[in-house]
Amino acid sequence: MHVVTLIPGDGIGPEITKAVTDIFAAAQVPIQWEEQNAGQTTFDQSGELLPTSLLKSLEKNKVALKGPITTPVGKGFRSINVTLRQKYDLYQNVRPSKTTPGIKTRYEGIDLVLFRENTEGLYSGLEMWDERLGIADSIARVTVEGARKICRAAFAYAVKHGRKKVTLAHKANIIKMAGTLMINACKEASLEFPQIVFEDKIIDNMCMQLVGKPEQFDVIVTTNLFGDLLSDLCAGLVGGLGVVAGANISDNMAIFEAVHGSAPDIAGQGKANPTALLRSAIMMLHHLGEHAKADRIDTALENTLLNQEECTGDLGGKASTSEFAQSIIAKL
Ligand code: ATP
Ligand code: MG
Repeated sequence: MHVVTLIPGDGIGPEITKAVTDIFAAAQVPIQWEEQNAGQTTFDQSGELLPTSLLKSLEKNKVALKGPITTPVGKGFRSINVTLRQKYDLYQNVRPSKTTPGIKTRYEGIDLVLFRENTEGLYSGLEMWDERLGIADSIARVTVEGARKICRAAFAYAVKHGRKKVTLAHKANIIKMAGTLMINACKEASLEFPQIVFEDKIIDNMCMQLVGKPEQFDVIVTTNLFGDLLSDLCAGLVGGLGVVAGANISDNMAIFEAVHGSAPDIAGQGKANPTALLRSAIMMLHHLGEHAKADRIDTALENTLLNQEECTGDLGGKASTSEFAQSIIAKL
């Protein structure tokens, strides 16, 4: 039995979390959930944004499934997502984007995995405001160690998963120092993994290529903010935010979460697509070594996605979150 921390989160979080835990229960996955929460809902109830009990649970279990969390705006709170990523050095943000039979998209044959550096760059929190001079500085700090770790992780993943190519997206022509560090770190990793083809692209060209010929990409590695932008772009290529999974990984902890936010516009209406969180949970099962359970749930999901009317509104269907989950359960 695996003990896993479950963080339902805010907005659509509780609805999609319930869909996932219902499907896991039906598939008899050997997981014992330890429910903890953080974010707006928790703050409203207890005055705590990120409770110590949640941190303790994470530190004990080392694995979590997390719904989207809202950080209250304008009250000087640091983003909870960023805090968790930095506190536990969850330096890899891994986001696979794949075209799925049944999901209508403009493109076919996309199967790429984005490695976003998750703790440094423009998310370092190094910001200065000079009131007198009227100057705002937001520093994109990249460390040699941070660059090495994320680039090496991308290459190691490529080898482990039988992939062929790693593309680094950067802006080294303008952001010269941080960009060069990333290029060098990738070159170093490519010496260690010579079986993987390495290429680099300037981020603006990368965006154009991604919407022109996305099927040419395999593994992409990039710094924090570029990764944030590219991951929404890639989600858009394969069916939208409702279908893309993600994982935040350190050398000894992993938090799996959907790429999307708390979607307050549709929260509490049973409209949310649980696919993104379910796919994140399937990634988690592979991480836990439960490959057979992962494949069984994945097959049931893929078979449901083939049937548009069984899907949620974002995929052109009419089903509610729980009806969609029931369709998956029926196919297990
Ligand atoms: P955040 O600041 O938390 O990232 P955001 O403003 O980027 O939030 P999201 O919550 O990611 O917004 O949602 C963006 C849009 O995508 C919204 O219109 C939302 O309804 C839609 N969306 C996001 N997730 C889902 C989902 N699981 N199912 C259906 N629609 C979704
Ligand atoms: Mg967003």
